[in-house]
Amino acid sequence: MAYITNYAYNHLIEHIKIKDTPSFIDKAFFRKNIYDNDYLYHIFNQLDLERLFKDKVLSSNNKDNYWLVYKEVPDNIDREKYIYEKQGSVKYHNDDSCKSLNSGFKDFFIPEPIQRVKEDDKARHKKLVKHIRVWFLENNYTVDRYLNDDISDKLLTREFNKNFAPQFGLDKIVVSQSEKNQFKWYEEKKPSGSQYLSNACFDYDKFIIDMSDLLKKRYDLCTGYAWESISKHDYLSEKPYEEMINILFKKQEENKLGQVKREFITNIGKVRIKNFLVKHRELKKKAVENLSDYFKWSYNFKQDSFSHVFLEDFNLEPCMMCHNKVFELQ
Ligand SMILES: [Zn+2]
Repeated sequence: MAYITNYAYNHLIEHIKIKDTPSFIDKAFFRKNIYDNDYLYHIFNQLDLERLFKDKVLSSNNKDNYWLVYKEVPDNIDREKYIYEKQGSVKYHNDDSCKSLNSGFKDFFIPEPIQRVKEDDKARHKKLVKHIRVWFLENNYTVDRYLNDDISDKLLTREFNKNFAPQFGLDKIVVSQSEKNQFKWYEEKKPSGSQYLSNACFDYDKFIIDMSDLLKKRYDLCTGYAWESISKHDYLSEKPYEEMINILFKKQEENKLGQVKREFITNIGKVRIKNFLVKHRELKKKAVENLSDYFKWSYNFKQDSFSHVFLEDFNLEPCMMCHNKVFELQ
């Protein structure tokens, strides 16, 4: 059996297709095949619902009963969000103690002044991403040194503002008076290895309370039919204001916003709409995470429930770190 990280698991979900998934997932299908709750159905759009269904099938012990349409899982794409972002094929592991499986995600953000360039000049942004990565390597700004307190947020900001920003004609990172509001360079996510993709920590009572709390918050947020319709497009929350509004106008013209009138969008304004979409997306994200944990708990999902053959069919490759180790022992 093979082990995969949470990241690889999500990659699988993105790329499998379950034959006979209805083109429109209605409330009855949701209740029968995903989760038996009417109110929860409304928080999700069609893409979310399909994703949840796939998550449930992959978590289940009877995934062989579903006809999965095999699509190659493509190599990792450079999202140009982090300094040391990994590229190359998605891996599976033979050994559940493999360091690469249990180390979690640790990286530095590409700073804001560089990210901002992306909207106006994609080619320049690409070059700057290359330069900042080289700058990190040349200065030996590594995750290990950061965790050892050899380098800090303050030092990185100071050096960026003093050297990198003027060299490339970039805005400086704003230094705040309070520690709390300081730009954070570093991001760490919990290990996506065995601890995470298991059901050991799941608390069913807490799950029920959390879900009803989420529903209540959403009820307070979506005050009326128009907001309900706009909430289906909360993926726009990360778009710049103008792009977000233009897409909403387009959806309205295509009759994909129900009864919402163009004037409603204009009158409410981009700032309020964006705030709404950001809040809605946060609630929905939490609901998806909770449901995903619930599926794994209810099926007693084990992280090694995937076979090598299954994963290789999806173009995942063995991790060389633990593959070689097992090979040596034989
Ligand atoms: Zn490994």
